[in-house]
This record gives sequence, structure tokens and C-alpha cells, in this order.
Amino acid sequence: MVLAQLGGSISRALQQMSNATIIDEKVLSDCLNEISRALLQADVQFEMVRDMQSNIERIVNFDDLADGHDKRRIIQQAIFNELCKMLDPGEPSFTPKKGKTSVIMFVGLQGSGKTTTCTKYAYYHQNKGWKPALVCADTFRAGAFDQLKQNATKAKIPFYGSYTESDPVKIAAEGVERFKNENCDLIIVDTSGSHKQEAALFEEMRQVSEATKPDLVIFVMDGSIGQAAFDQAQAFKQSVAVGAVIVTKMDGHAKGGGDLCAVAATKSPVIFIGTGEHMDEFEVFDVKPFVSRLLGMGDWSGFMDNIHEDVPTDQQPELLQKPAEDTFTPRLMYEQFQNILKMSPLDQVLSTLPGFSAELMPRGHEKESQAKIKHEKESQAKIKRYMTIMDSMTNAELDSTNPKLMNEARIRQIARDSGQHVRDVMDMFEEYNRLAKIWSTMKRLEINAQQLSKFH
Ligand code: GDP
Repeated sequence: MVLAQLGGSISRALQQMSNATIIDEKVLSDCLNEISRALLQADVQFEMVRDMQSNIERIVNFDDLADGHDKRRIIQQAIFNELCKMLDPGEPSFTPKKGKTSVIMFVGLQGSGKTTTCTKYAYYHQNKGWKPALVCADTFRAGAFDQLKQNATKAKIPFYGSYTESDPVKIAAEGVERFKNENCDLIIVDTSGSHKQEAALFEEMRQVSEATKPDLVIFVMDGSIGQAAFDQAQAFKQSVAVGAVIVTKMDGHAKGGGDLCAVAATKSPVIFIGTGEHMDEFEVFDVKPFVSRLLGMGDWSGFMDNIHEDVPTDQQPELLQKPAEDTFTPRLMYEQFQNILKMSPLDQVLSTLPGFSAELMPRGHEKESQAKIKHEKESQAKIKRYMTIMDSMTNAELDSTNPKLMNEARIRQIARDSGQHVRDVMDMFEEYNRLAKIWSTMKRLEINAQQLSKFH
């Protein structure tokens, strides 16, 4: 996805800083200028970038740092924290609970990806065992109901709408009532995204909201508008109680970074991002893991350091050459897991291993704490569970470059054969898909090639 370019630029700046023999003010300033340039290119607001730069310069005060300090790590940590700050709205979002009915109303301009996102949101939760339902309260746009119906049918999600009724408030209320009676726990109301006049659109949103009493209003916005997202998000917030935001089309536009920061500045939490047109191209958005991954894609340096210390020399080339040579298959993921389990201490390696998802990654600053130890054990257990599942896959499946195509019956069979839950098998494939995407991004960035040259 395009955000990888931003991550790649920031990582390269960090890498250059790491490669410097002496870390001084000049090296830091060059690194920060590079990062600022990358952020401005992603359309992050100038003032935000300037504040980030001066905050880091204040935190990393060379006069206060004794010679023994690991300046590189202190700078990396400061940059990580400042990037997180830019994306953190400081406001948590309402979280619906499985088994307890929640009404979620979607608002946003026509073309933003709202209808597609309603289905993605329903599908995501359905896969996690929820009972979602979709209500089409967009009577303005011809074809809106057909589109929702088509998406819902494909995802096997119940839906409600009307070809003849023109009152969106009536449809919304009826749909919500019906699905409450059917004990659905996630009732999603798709609203209109355009009107003859803006005031009429906002008035309709208010009326639908009043009739359905949503637990959460999600504002869907197109990620290509960059910092202009601030004004758009504010306008919607002023008209209806927006509790969370989903930014779409993050796969297609370089302004995605600016968009995310602008939304955070309105104090609305971004909860998911859309990364493609397909139903499953939808990712949970969580600031810290997101920044880790953004930087982690190129952050081979910490990883290499740990490998150097923790992995016997004869295993290093095997592990390190893989990204350059292979298409990412389940077998390759299996081999990576085997290598990870051989390493010690596990947390050191995992916390810097590029591309590993937040769930598998224990967090660095909780070191020594009970939570950290528990998390570490859970991470190991998860890796072992995934390996057990893969043990029940055929050779052809392990070597496939598109295991996404595996059908439901086969997934159930693998779950039965491996003695695991279907949900775990699906989680394993989700993890595989995430890693495969990152793998191909890393190849494109050719970071591995640069780093490998150090070992030859
Ligand atoms: P609505 O008018 O806001 O309901 O928007 P639609 O759901 O009809 O989406 C408008 C277009 O954007 C469609 O062609 C979608 O396939 C596309 N779209 C939606 N989300 C994404 C996304 O995350 N990435 C990409 N590339 N396209 C998307």
C-alpha cells in the first residue's frame, strides 16, 4: 500500500542515522529533515511536522547525553513516540460487545466508500462470530439498495431496504427494529452520502440518528484528501455525534498519512482503514502497532543486531536470504516461525522483527513486568498453534502463493485434523496474508538486499 512509501522513507532516514559512525547534532538534524520531508509529501500539516521536529530536538539533548548512552536508540524511541502522538486523538472509541445489540450508523460523502465499508465492517465481525445485519437507509442515490444487497448477499449477511419507500428515517427505524427482534448484535445502518443541498444531508443524518439511537456513528472518509480531512471530519462532527472514523482507499494514495494525522487532530479515533476494494481488505487501526509496522518494514537494523547476538551464525544466512529469494508461502512462514522459536530471548527478537503483527509482538516498554511475560508466553503459544495447523496442510497448500483461495470445507477439515478451532485456522491465514503483504513491500523497497550485503 502507498503508506509503505512513507514508512520506507522514514526507515531509510533512520537507517542512514544508524549507519553514521558518530551520532551528533548534524546527523540528527539530517535525519529529522528527511523524515519531515517524507511527512510533508504525505500531506501532513506543516505545523504538526514542525512541532514533531522541535519536540524531538528538545528530547534528544546531546549536552545531557553521556557518552555511554545509546543515542541511536534514544532517537529512534523519540521519533516513534512523536509519530504516535501525531496519530493519537487522545479519545477512545465506543467498542461494541459481541452478543449485546449495538446500532452502528455510517455517515460520509458519496463516493467515500461508505457502502463498501459497511459490508467490510459487517464481514470482519461476522468472521469473529458476531451476528451482523445491514440496513440501507440511502433512498437518495438510485442503486444504493442494490449495491448493499449485492454486497450483503455475497457475504451472507442479512439486509433490509426498500425499492419503493422514499423515507430513509422510516426504513432505518424499521430495519433496526427488525434486526433487534432477530437478536442481531451488530445492526449497521448505511445512510445517504449526498443531497441536493448539504444542509438537507446533515438534517437527514440527524433524523436517522434520532430514530435509530445509534451506539456509535462512524464517519467514513476517502484517504486521498490529505490534510483537507480535518475540515471534512469537523463538519460531520458538528452535525452528528461522530464517535469514530474509518479512512478508506489507503492502498491508492500517497496522502494517507496526512489524512490520518488530520483526523487525529479532530480528536476522532480512526478505528479501521480500507486497503482495497475487496471485502477482506480492511485492517484494524491501532496507533502503536501501526507506527511499529510502518517503521518495522524497513527497520532491519534492530532486527539484524538481535539476530547477530541470538542466532547461531550457521542459521543466519538461511533466515536472512528468504525475503530476497522467495515468494511468501505458508511454508516460508512455517520456517520463519521455526527460526523464531529457536531464538532467545524471544521477546528481543520479536519486538524488532520486521513485519510481525502487533498481536505476535510483545511490547518493549513493558519489559520485566508480569504482563510482558504473560504476553510472551501467549505469543509462543500462538506461533506453536499456527505451526500445528500448518502440519495438517498438504504440501501443495504449503507451497501455494494464494492460499486465500482455500474453500470453507477445506478450512474446516484442517481445523478438525489439527484439533484446532476454525477461528484459529482463519486467524492463521489472516496472519499469513498480513505477512505476505509486508513481505512483498519489503522486496519492493529492496531493503533486505542492502542489509544482506553487510553479511557477505
Ligand atoms: P459510497 O458512495 O460512499 O457508498 O462508496 P462506495 O462504497 O460505492 O465506494 C466507492 C468506490 O470506492 C467503489 O468503487 C469501491 O470499490 C471503492 N472503494 C471503497 N473502499 C475502498 C478501498 O479501501 N480501497 C479502494 N481502492 N477502493 C475502495
